[in-house]
Amino acid sequence: MFIPYSRQWIDDDDINEVTKVLKADFITRGLKTPEFEERLAEFCGAKYCVVFNSGTSALHGAYFVLGLAKGDEFITSPNTFVATSNTGLYLGAKPVFVDVEKDTGNIDVSKIEESITGKTKLIAPVHYSGHPADLEKIHGIAQKNNTFVIEDACHALGAEYKGQKIGSCKYSDMTIFSFHPVKHIATGEGGAVLTNSADYRERLRMFRSHGVTKSKFIDEPHGSWYYEMQFLGYNFRITDIQAALGISQMKKIDLFVKRRRQIAENYNEAFKDNPYFDLPAEKDYARSSYHLYPLRLKDKYKHNKSDIFSNLRERGLGIQVHYMPVYLHPYYRSLGYKKGLCPLAEDFYQREISIPLYPAMKDDDVKKVVNEIIDIIKRKK
Ligand SMILES: *Cc1c(COP(=O)(O)O)cnc(C)c1O
Repeated sequence: MFIPYSRQWIDDDDINEVTKVLKADFITRGLKTPEFEERLAEFCGAKYCVVFNSGTSALHGAYFVLGLAKGDEFITSPNTFVATSNTGLYLGAKPVFVDVEKDTGNIDVSKIEESITGKTKLIAPVHYSGHPADLEKIHGIAQKNNTFVIEDACHALGAEYKGQKIGSCKYSDMTIFSFHPVKHIATGEGGAVLTNSADYRERLRMFRSHGVTKSKFIDEPHGSWYYEMQFLGYNFRITDIQAALGISQMKKIDLFVKRRRQIAENYNEAFKDNPYFDLPAEKDYARSSYHLYPLRLKDKYKHNKSDIFSNLRERGLGIQVHYMPVYLHPYYRSLGYKKGLCPLAEDFYQREISIPLYPAMKDDDVKKVVNEIIDIIKRKK
């Protein structure tokens, strides 16, 4: 049997909620989308939420609304999915990659300030694996240097930083989530921006729908049919079918996070003091929502990673690697980024393996993962 590194949990309640929408008058742009937004805002403790058709379009919208544009730079982590920096490239801005911490894989806050220039518009930390980056410090640096903060929290729905839910935007301008099936809740494709600014919310809604508004006109309205396009937006709307699934999934979010943390604890216990690899850290300011459980092979084993990876796949474990530093992709190298830019992110990549972790995993699956990993690695020299 194949155990993937992550997968969705869809039950009969979810299916019923989706079916109801399919039989209703509006399968998109009905009441399910605003209700999903309310649920998310409430859960995170932010004032507003604008949902999108992906985490990527949500990131794109957030950067756009802050005015990120050609000539600007933005600081982010290389240890992320390409979307975090691609969405800034869409707008003509230049990603500046700051190296990561050895233990969490998150952006190293002590190295941010040396990368700030007169062109830096925003800092976009990524809460890698569901472990929050040190937001209060990042916020302090942003204040001092007059830049914005956008949290890429695609791994971190349900995580907490100093007792505050990620998504509350206490230390940032906006926070982004993804509802891709490997993330904490699934809507097929989907994403969201959380914010406490009514102005950002308004502009995010317009960005999501062609740059069109039905209020606050520039010209005199010609009648009650009138709408205006004020900037070049996109069609990045989510359907009500997906929003209904999202609402239903949000009823289970606490259970999902609890189960993820439980599995992580089981792994921590089973792998305690093992001689082969280091376990994910959890700092005192963080409560991780464990999107991933990233192992880091010790020096003696890191050169065998490719072998270990293939052997574990052969045993039916759908392990993954998160991530090759973004700037090592051929496209980024064609933009001039070079190997050696962030040595710790490159070292992290050489050691890292993400092992299966998702709420529907059975205790027996967890045991199988533990046994197979130890059995394979102990044979390596
Ligand atoms: C998944 C993910 C995204 C993109 O989300 P999509 O919904 O797949 O577009 C962005 N950043 C990170 C860190 C992610 O893990």
